Amino acid sequence: MGISLDETCERDLVERLWSLAAFDSMKQISFEEIDATLSDALPDGLRRGSAYLTHPVFNSHHSETEMLRYIRRLSDKDIALDRSMIPLGSCTMKLNATTEMVPITWPEFSQVHPFAPADQVEGYVQMIRELEQMLCACTGYAAVSLQPNAGSQGEYAGLLMIRAYHRGRGDTQRDVCLIPSSAHGTNPASAAMAGMRVVVVKCDDHGNVDVEDLKAKATAHADTLAALMVTYPSTHGVFEEAIGEICGIVHDHGGQVYMDGANLNAMVGLCQPGHFGSDVSHLNLHKTFCIPHGGGGPGVGPVGVATHLAPYLPGHRFGPTQETSIGPVSAAPWGSAGILPISWAYVTMMGAKGMRDATEVAILNANYLAARLKVHFPVLYTGANDTVAHECIIDLRPVKEATGVSVDDVAKRLVDFGFHAPTMSFPVPGTLMIEPTESEPKGELDRFVDAIAAIREEIYAIERGDIAHEDSPLAHAPHTAAALMGASWDRKYSREQAAFPNQAARIDKYWPPVGRIDNVYGDRNLMCSCPPISDYEDVAD
Ligand SMILES: *Cc1c(COP(=O)(O)O)cnc(C)c1O
Repeated sequence: MGISLDETCERDLVERLWSLAAFDSMKQISFEEIDATLSDALPDGLRRGSAYLTHPVFNSHHSETEMLRYIRRLSDKDIALDRSMIPLGSCTMKLNATTEMVPITWPEFSQVHPFAPADQVEGYVQMIRELEQMLCACTGYAAVSLQPNAGSQGEYAGLLMIRAYHRGRGDTQRDVCLIPSSAHGTNPASAAMAGMRVVVVKCDDHGNVDVEDLKAKATAHADTLAALMVTYPSTHGVFEEAIGEICGIVHDHGGQVYMDGANLNAMVGLCQPGHFGSDVSHLNLHKTFCIPHGGGGPGVGPVGVATHLAPYLPGHRFGPTQETSIGPVSAAPWGSAGILPISWAYVTMMGAKGMRDATEVAILNANYLAARLKVHFPVLYTGANDTVAHECIIDLRPVKEATGVSVDDVAKRLVDFGFHAPTMSFPVPGTLMIEPTESEPKGELDRFVDAIAAIREEIYAIERGDIAHEDSPLAHAPHTAAALMGASWDRKYSREQAAFPNQAARIDKYWPPVGRIDNVYGDRNLMCSCPPISDYEDVAD
């Protein structure tokens, strides 16, 4: 018999357990005796001789008041959704509603071991099953597995299922994966992990998959075609109008269609990937379904499949599985189960109509932004009627050519206006990709456009020759309070222009905690902004 206890368990409980299990003669053993034996039991080599957690942050905040202020100081440095829109394209930084978040703190969800016996988690499993059904209803797929912990892991699981399907039919040679050049970087990485060979398909001038090139490549690889990975709406922010035809071409050549569902925020309630020809998709619950992300926390990247792939869904020895399953792709049977209540609550509270409304507003918001932004910078890709899907890409390459102003300059200058940067140079180098989501009110969208417009004015000043690029606020952004309020100021623009570039910035000023850093240098040279390294020498010894 084995019993495992964690550090939250008190002496009292141990003693009670022990008196139940022990023979009479053992009941007398005291904790002190055990302590004594145990300390002898530790070999000298395993005893800690050095100090640990010596950084002041671990030893400075001893009361709730101090701790509260420390956390507040940290959050003041941050630009999070509680301060501004996070316009990161492809990331769907939407509201993480408090009502959705609170239940994951309940012990009934947070204190359950991933391998707890089935009869102790019936309620949990019911919620999981309901969420699976909701996701089937959203996507039109026959079955869903919640096991993958990220979109990329869902891609990997999906491709393993496609491979298993081909093998099951004796098509062991099918290992070519077609991927359009607009794809997210995780697509080719997952294909490589699943043992497939990547063949890139071109895009046309509007950002769509080049159907003729797809036909040519599918024909050339007809005998070995395993899959196409296609993102809909694409990472270029447009609805790929030929999607039905694209799926047809791949099927005609014996391949399966993997539709990357990370952009589902532009589809829920309007259309279903399972109904326009795709065989398998991942969704990102940490995008479309409201799980917070961006800080490195856990994600959920469920895979949805059509009926013929359902026998291959991921399985687990401590959860549901089937003979033909590809096996586990995560350590736990339901992956990041602890955060599933967020998505369950979201879908339950929104209902079918609410989900559809959200999608429509997400698309409307993106198109409103695109329409207003294109006055200042060209919008790179648009589809029918000059519209975009749920995000838009603005092209800064002409400006860079004319003035030297880079996407970095614009992204950093936005910080002076109190905005988080949009997605930079992805999927097209030299551009910014902006996704507002349905959560942003018109006032915030206008504040963003006003900031972009003011930045465009600063670029015009460079174009006119009023100021050189390297002397401009764009090249020096963001501006810290220390830089602005220092004794000397030798810039070619005023302190006022630096700190308060428009009226909105004056009303609710965000003070950047750090100035311009050299990103590339920083990435290559890790540096500790802590007590000096010399303080650590003893520890290192
Ligand atoms: C975010 C994203 C992914 C990857 O999802 P992760 O959860 O970050 O692994 C894949 N494809 C697209 C289009 C995405 O936007």
